[in-house]
Amino acid sequence: MEIAQNIKKYQSKLPEEVTLVAVSKTKPIEDIMEAYKAGQRIFGENKIQEMADKQEKLPEDIEWHMIGHVQRNKVKYMAPFVSLIHAVDSLKLLKEINKQGKKNNRMISCLLQIKIAEEDTKFGITIEEAKSILDSQEHIEMQHVKVVGLMGMATLTEDENQIEKEFSFLKKHFDIFQQHNPSFKVLSMGMSGDYEIAIRCGSNMVRIGSSIFGERNYN
Ligand SMILES: *Cc1c(COP(=O)(O)O)cnc(C)c1O
Repeated sequence: MEIAQNIKKYQSKLPEEVTLVAVSKTKPIEDIMEAYKAGQRIFGENKIQEMADKQEKLPEDIEWHMIGHVQRNKVKYMAPFVSLIHAVDSLKLLKEINKQGKKNNRMISCLLQIKIAEEDTKFGITIEEAKSILDSQEHIEMQHVKVVGLMGMATLTEDENQIEKEFSFLKKHFDIFQQHNPSFKVLSMGMSGDYEIAIRCGSNMVRIGSSIFGERNYN
């Protein structure tokens, strides 16, 4: 019941141009179905195997987003159905996604994950590395991946100025990429704790987990 109410709350609260990814990692099928019945269709997972298991059991019209770090050898398990991969951080990975996209006769949409946080525990690449991936001949020739934007995670801190600075940095570079790259549409930033700041800074996709489904238990 609470999950449905939370989904409805976000549906009415988020600006129309902001897409909600309901982050269901570690949560059971029943919880996802509750959100689904409240109208939610986009779900985010951070483990490929878990996402593939859930995808098999849940309605076909769900759009599955891989929001976590991707291991190249597991791309094949999600290639048949994944709708957006948020955290691409190398040309090698993009090549594997392209290869698996080809096998499945699909175009797979991806975001490049930019490291904007100060902590060194976060994954991601620099703006310069993103630019060099996008400009590479190999990327230009890929026919089964489409890079549609950027993703970033801000530092986990109480300091809102810090978070705002990091999100604004990403938005600035997103706009610059967009000028040269007509397929750039998605700027994925913002989670339960910082999505309001992210939206203020120009995010158009937020990834919200715990404030919809409750705290996660990792056992
Ligand atoms: C878990 C996760 C989220 C959701 O985090 P909450 O704080 O629970 O909203 C968003 N993005 C990524 C990449 C995650 O791994």
